[in-house]
Formats: sequence, C-alpha cells, structure tokens
Amino acid sequence: MNQESGHFPRKTDGALHIPTTMGEVPESHPRYASLMSRQRLVDAMKEGLLADSALIAHGRGEAFDYLIGERTAPGAAAAIDEVAARLLVAERPVISVNGNTVALACDELLQIADSLGCPLEVNIYYRTPERMAGLLERIKARATALDLNHVEILGANPDGKIPGLEGPRSNCCKDGILGADMILVPLEDGDRCEALIAMGKQVFVIDLNPLSRTAKTATICIVDEVQRTVSALLSRLKNPKIPDPKFDADASRRSVLEVMLDALERDQTDA
Ligand code: ATP
Ligand code: MG
Repeated sequence: MNQESGHFPRKTDGALHIPTTMGEVPESHPRYASLMSRQRLVDAMKEGLLADSALIAHGRGEAFDYLIGERTAPGAAAAIDEVAARLLVAERPVISVNGNTVALACDELLQIADSLGCPLEVNIYYRTPERMAGLLERIKARATALDLNHVEILGANPDGKIPGLEGPRSNCCKDGILGADMILVPLEDGDRCEALIAMGKQVFVIDLNPLSRTAKTATICIVDEVQRTVSALLSRLKNPKIPDPKFDADASRRSVLEVMLDALERDQTDA
C-alpha cells in the first residue's frame, strides 16, 4: 500500500491517514482493485469465514498478479472462452467454492450457477461447523439479495467422499461434486484436484500461480485473478464459442507464465 501517493486524505495533525473502510479509498487510486480485494478478505476473516492461511494464499496470488500487470493475459482469455463453452454443454456441472472465493466473487458465482442451472457447493479445506454455517449463510443472503434463491446451495450435509483423499476435505455431496461431470473450482488445492481428475471429471480451476500442482493437474487452468475471471466467464456464457476438445490447456498456462517471465526480463533490460 503506497501511503505517499497522495491519494489518501491526510489527518489535520499531519499523520498519514490509512483507509480503514472501502468507502474511504477513491476509485482513482492506482491500487484500488487490489485494496478492495484485501478489504473484502479482511472483513471475511473478521466474520470467521476464512481459515488463518487464507490471507497468505491471497498474498501469493497477488505476487503473480503483479507480474501479469493485473489484467487478463491472452492465454487466460482463451482458457476462459473454452471453459465457458464446455460448462454450457456439461451434463451435470457444479461450482465448488471455498472461503476466499465467497469473499471475493460470491455474486458472480451465483450468477454463473444461475446461467448454467447448476448447484454451488461449499467445500472447504479446513472444515469447521462455524465456517461452514457462516459461508452457507453468506451465500444464501447474497442469493436473496440478487433474487437468485432458486440456485441450489450444497455442502451443509455431505453424503459422499472423494476417493483417495484423507480427512474432512474429502466430504462432498452426491448431487454436487461427487456426481458432476465438470467442476468449476476457483482456487482448488493440488491434492484434491488430482483426486477429482482421477475420478474422470473435467476440472476447471482459476489459479494465478501457473506453476502450482493445481494449475498443472487441472483439465484447464485459467491463470488469472478470480474476480476478473468470473466477470469474463459470465459474459462469455452469454456469448459462447463452440467447445474445442483439442484445446491446448498446457499452452494456455505456459503462455501466461511467459507473460510473467517477460515482465521480469523487461525490467532487467530497462535498468
Ligand atoms: P497446490 O495446492 O496447487 O500445490 P499451493 O498449495 O501452493 O498449490 P494453495 O495454498 O493450495 O497453493 O492455494 C493458493 C493459490 O491460490 C496460490 O497459488 C495463489 O496463486 C492462488 N490465488 C490466491 N488468490 C487468488 C486470486 N484472487 N485469484 C486467483 N488465484 C489466487
Ligand atoms: Mg495446496
């Protein structure tokens, strides 16, 4: 956070005033989107919706986002187009959400579920009854606000298990993740991604780290920021292309990695 940019109002005593609520940051601030995301996560943390490590995971994502200039790279845009096209022909699609995703992109994910006529399943790594209840309550409140109460919200009563995974993170719903042919899982974990792929499902993930196990294991990894991706995905669902079974997911992932490497190299050349 650049406190000397002049975008934050100063207190009369001369001390720098750091914004503590979203309303205090002007939209013209160069770090506006990033600051808003941080605020959303901090708020969700205070509400008990996130695991302790959630902010660390977000920080890692931010570092990669910096390298792509905080905008969707062409390779990611192609992956978004392909994922939209495939989700529209899925027989039993499902969207799996965790705490960070709900904090950052709940509304858009509900709208995507509505477009696809599919359920949204809460599935979290560090499962506690309090967090599950909090997340389900938040999603249902947003569904009501958006007039999307018909979207099915799963996760409260898991009645299935993902084979090959230990502990509570394997819990899932037969009508959701277990029975799905295609899963959109923003911010998936590597182990679970591998287990879902081993079940023969198409797994579409969103992960800013093109080198993670998740990114390398998924059927398609959209190497982009979650909020930008879901907005783009939503508009592509309204204007889809034809699915391409030969879509080269690895080339798409690597092309975004190239953008990151170029950014680092360009700076060395500039110096
Ligand atoms: P893996 O489980 O795939 O081996 P990991 O354990 O290193 O990877 P996790 O902690 O499981 O990573 O997940 C965090 C990942 O989520 C980070 O790699 C980060 O890039 C990504 N991430 C965090 N915030 C966002 C965001 N807003 N948009 C997209 N990706 C994000
Ligand atoms: Mg992991």
